[in-house]
Amino acid sequence: MATWFHPPRAARLASGIPGAADGLTLRGFFGVFRYSRRAVELVWSTSRALTLSIAAVTLVAGVLPASVAYVGSLIVDAVVAAMRAGASAGHVVELVALEGLLVAAIAGAQRGLSLCQSLLRAQLGQRVNVMILEKALTLELAHFEDSEFYDKLTRARREASTRPLSLVTRTFGLVQNGISLASYAVLLAHFSPWAVAVLLLAGVPAFVAEVKFSGDAFRLFRWRSPESRMQLYLETVIGREDHAKEVKLFGLGPRLLERYRAIFRRLYGEDRALAVRRDAWGFALGLIATAALYGAYAWIAVSTVRGLITLGQMTMYLALFRQGQSSVSAMLSAVGGMYEDNLYLSTLYEYLETPVPTAGGTAARGPEPADGIRFEDVSFTYPGAGEPALEHVTLHLAPGASLALVGENGSGKTTLIKLLTRLYAPSSGRILLDGRDLAQWDEAALRERIGVIFQDFARYQMLVGENVGAGDERYFEDEARWRSAADKGQASEFIAALPAGYHTQLGKWFKDGRELSGGQWQKIALSRAFMRTRADILVLDEPTAAMDARAEAEVFEHFRQLAHDRITILISHRFSTVRMADQIAVLDHGRIVERGTHEELMRLDGRYAHLFTLQARGYR
Ligand code: ADP
Repeated sequence: MATWFHPPRAARLASGIPGAADGLTLRGFFGVFRYSRRAVELVWSTSRALTLSIAAVTLVAGVLPASVAYVGSLIVDAVVAAMRAGASAGHVVELVALEGLLVAAIAGAQRGLSLCQSLLRAQLGQRVNVMILEKALTLELAHFEDSEFYDKLTRARREASTRPLSLVTRTFGLVQNGISLASYAVLLAHFSPWAVAVLLLAGVPAFVAEVKFSGDAFRLFRWRSPESRMQLYLETVIGREDHAKEVKLFGLGPRLLERYRAIFRRLYGEDRALAVRRDAWGFALGLIATAALYGAYAWIAVSTVRGLITLGQMTMYLALFRQGQSSVSAMLSAVGGMYEDNLYLSTLYEYLETPVPTAGGTAARGPEPADGIRFEDVSFTYPGAGEPALEHVTLHLAPGASLALVGENGSGKTTLIKLLTRLYAPSSGRILLDGRDLAQWDEAALRERIGVIFQDFARYQMLVGENVGAGDERYFEDEARWRSAADKGQASEFIAALPAGYHTQLGKWFKDGRELSGGQWQKIALSRAFMRTRADILVLDEPTAAMDARAEAEVFEHFRQLAHDRITILISHRFSTVRMADQIAVLDHGRIVERGTHEELMRLDGRYAHLFTLQARGYR
């Protein structure tokens, strides 16, 4: 189990069993407000002006409806009085005009509210996405290779960027309806305090159901994250250019699409069951509210007939009761929605608060600059893996030395490089650079020393020049450096032949993008390594596999010539290149089984000699 994950939660997630605290307990209920404060802070810091405008408009929109109902009662009573007295209708018309103004003000407030909200939504969505991406930059490689963590990231990205605003909107909605309700209650209490009590209590059952079903919906969402991720992945495979070739030729399309459909069918089944239950209960419990409304209706009507209240008051109380009820249900569903938003936000904050180990030490140089690299009895096991990927590796590379790593697939060659570049830390033993443990090095200082090209190097859908420049972030856009690096990486010739030279867009995602051959891409990758002019450790993890044998040998020779007192590490399956290295280490199941120069290893007549002869025979 990955260590940065709170274990009980991880276990709960994995088993899909909802946590008791998330259920319909008092604590679960008050959880509704757990993230509200942070959501408000987030919104407030995103735009104060918009937040204040929303708050002000909410207040206005809250008190207006009751005043409309009150003016309505005045109108009816004024009409009745004018009819009895045979007076003119001037006062009535004034009141009607007032009500019209109030209604127009409500419409204005609502428009203003939705305007502010849509502006805020855009800003907030961007802000949260940037927060998610900023966090991603601080994460370790191990995080990205962990599927549980990846789920968190997907969930956070998918939903959480709209949730903070939703939570705040609902909070304001709650306040707005609360204000309306209070003003209705003040007027309605003149009729009877009991009517106020009926109004409030009738909505409770529907509310309890709402909270329960929101919780269920969230748990469903959370627990089916792997399936949603699979759907996303299938969409990518079917819909993207880098997979299209194989999908077409192997005829994988229909099968993949069927998997996609099958996942939907399963998810839909669950969704439907939940939606049906939610709405059935909502309907049944809503009947209670309707019954209360009509009970109150009869009560108010009877009171009017008995002459206890005027006709105008009757219309007002009815309107108050009816609107009060819709306020109560709006408040209840706001609370239900807030509960849901809080649950979703918990995934965002869970992601944002993923602990990242504080980045190593602060040293920028070691005590023995002439010592180079030392592996001292290094072993390493990947998180969650049963078997170690490296065991008891001991190595020394002085400045100027070149090392070739040889071994079958999966023997641990790349892992060794990942440890050297501190993408992972050894499980035991230590790695020293210039006599200082890698763990004590300042991350930036260390990375500056090392230039690595992995076999699965990135192919950026950017300009050719930027693809080279990526090798040294400081000179990402430095054309002169692009050119000299591309010269050394033997890429300048084909780059010159591209339509816009170094400014040619690569990849198929964007307009006028050009695709390169595998070998050309590798030359770009090599040039990228040559961008790191200050790096004195150069690592080539099979980036030359797509080149022909002679080109690979030339590249390596080139590398060595440029690398006077640099350390060069090469991983290759081509012995014609490997033999040029000063030192060759043969890895097998994570252990170094043979080490020496080509001649020494041939004399040893062991595994290296065997593999070398096997390959040499193939060429004859
Ligand atoms: P090589 O580069 O020699 O082909 P690697 O160093 O990539 O081999 O892999 C060594 C072993 O570690 C293999 O058994 C592989 O399955 C395992 N391994 C590699 N990467 C990971 C990873 N990210 N998580 C878990 N195991 C891994």
